[in-house]
Amino acid sequence: MPLYLKRVELHGFKSFADRIEIEFGPGINAIVGPNGSGKSNITDAIRWVLGEQSVRNLRGSKLEDVIFAGSNTKKPMGMAEVSITLDNSDKLLPLDYSEVCFTRRVFRSGESEFFLNKTPCRLKDIQEILMDTGIGKDGYSIIGQGQVDEILTGRSEERRAILEETAGIMKHKARKKEAEKR
Ligand code: ATP
Ligand code: MG
Repeated sequence: MPLYLKRVELHGFKSFADRIEIEFGPGINAIVGPNGSGKSNITDAIRWVLGEQSVRNLRGSKLEDVIFAGSNTKKPMGMAEVSITLDNSDKLLPLDYSEVCFTRRVFRSGESEFFLNKTPCRLKDIQEILMDTGIGKDGYSIIGQGQVDEILTGRSEERRAILEETAGIMKHKARKKEAEKR
């Protein structure tokens, strides 16, 4: 079984006030629905849990825009939480679990909390586990509208960075940089 996204759980994230669970299978999955029904909010949630900090990339103007802002029938929420579960039966991630769950939580006061299989962790821990898998906020597992153009028209250094990320040598570069800092 390849490494694949098995489940996304949202609670208080953007338009998803109530806790919901979306199951995915290996292979191609499609999310369909009317305009404004929350399809892009689901991909925003995946980016966000993977550490996206840019409010613009999350289509908002301030950090707390990811928290449910209220509707005619529901009060605004004080917290947003997203979990994504990856199937790791083949141990493609360097962890001895057949399912790996990443969670991010944020309160209106600011600060985000991250969890790995329900245990508090740092965003850095999540990023290290995912490095070289192509999964990550800057990995190419998420291709946004306009990004295809960026790849085609980008400068050669930018294209090189994309190839390096997909070829899986970013980890070594990141470690080299860390080592040079010491
Ligand atoms: P399209 O087909 O047009 O791309 P979509 O299904 O991708 O639509 P989204 O962009 O995911 O739709 O959802 C937009 C909806 O999410 C809007 O109605 C917006 O009001 C709502 N929304 C976004 N942020 C919040 C928030 N913080 N609280 C409540 N609702 C929100
Ligand atoms: Mg959309």
